[in-house]
Amino acid sequence: MDKKTIKDIDVYNKKVLLRVDFNVPVKDGVITDDNRIKEELPTIKYLLDNGASVICMSHLGRPEGEVNLKYTLKPTAVRLGEYLGKEVKFAEDCIGKDAVKLAKELQPGEVLMLENLRFYAQEEENDEAFCKKLAKLADVYVNDAFGTAHRKHASTYGVAKLLPNAVGFLIQKELEMIEDTINQPKRPLVGILGGAKVSDKIKIVESLLNKVDTLIVGGAMAYTFLAAQNYSMGKSLVETEMVPEAERLIKLAEEKNVQLLLPVDHMVTDKFEDGTVIKATKCPNIPTDMMGMDIGKQTIKNYKKAIKQAKSVVWNGPMGVFENKNFENGTKSVAKAMAKTKAVTIVGGGDSAAAVIKFGFAKKMTHVSTGGGASLKLFEGKVLPAVDVIANK
Ligand code: AMP
Repeated sequence: MDKKTIKDIDVYNKKVLLRVDFNVPVKDGVITDDNRIKEELPTIKYLLDNGASVICMSHLGRPEGEVNLKYTLKPTAVRLGEYLGKEVKFAEDCIGKDAVKLAKELQPGEVLMLENLRFYAQEEENDEAFCKKLAKLADVYVNDAFGTAHRKHASTYGVAKLLPNAVGFLIQKELEMIEDTINQPKRPLVGILGGAKVSDKIKIVESLLNKVDTLIVGGAMAYTFLAAQNYSMGKSLVETEMVPEAERLIKLAEEKNVQLLLPVDHMVTDKFEDGTVIKATKCPNIPTDMMGMDIGKQTIKNYKKAIKQAKSVVWNGPMGVFENKNFENGTKSVAKAMAKTKAVTIVGGGDSAAAVIKFGFAKKMTHVSTGGGASLKLFEGKVLPAVDVIANK
């Protein structure tokens, strides 16, 4: 990694403005999953142990540029304080008088959390005046919010240009794990893509075809590829306008000598929400009155075999509607096969990370990413703007 990390900068006696991703799920004021806070502890502890004071800033939810206390970050400040074993001060407005005063008074070893950045529309607009107000609070800027690193916002991009800067340990780990595995993989490298939308993932399919030895496609996106091979997909989710593109990618895989694995059988039902019939097909075709919901038994066998033979596996997107118990088997089996192998296993953020955690395999993976959109960009081989703006070593 050629970007400065917190180990490359002097933080002693400095006020560090730290962009974290504390966009955690909150229900009735209670945090239901605090993994993102736990992931941030190494960076915060390092900064405090090395004589800095830390001003944390984050967004939470989508308050659309208005103060909405449903999205207050106060509970995250309390939870962070519990983990650190010290009080975390809280400023009720990220750039207001309160924030300026508390930041000014902050002593080495102390932590301040700012209220939700997205209470200001200027945050997502990367507004210059807003960036300046944030920058004024501190001496140094550190970004460790991997989950928003693909966004060019004030707190992830604009403010970095105004202060000496570096990335924190979480961004460093995410970049090293994902980029190294994709760019210098132990081979064979198997890519697994699933989920619902081909149009969203088409660019990733194309760039992965330049990197992987085998590409496994599951989830609803597989139906567009099967439609391109003239199989009938019944009522399944097919992105008709993407069929020619899928056809092109199938040819491209052949040209590049990449083994492309598609479902050979499915679990199907008659209605998406409250289906009364659940059936297994024995072929890639899906009956006219049915829709595909998960990959079938033989497909699972094929995919497990490819994973077993791999030395590196990168995965993004579920193999079926895993939120429903009847259709979780494909996703669960892929997760289990990845958990069992000795290969390097990287799980992209979002739904696949949620699935791996839900099925209890997270600890068995080499790396489970904390960022859905950001990890997909890295799979695509793109540079993240929030990383690009950080100084080189
Ligand atoms: P994405 O956001 O593109 O990663 O898609 C994730 C969603 O795809 C999950 O909510 C899954 O339930 C859904 N999904 C996976 N397989 C299917 C399928 N066969 N039919 C409909 N939705 C699916």
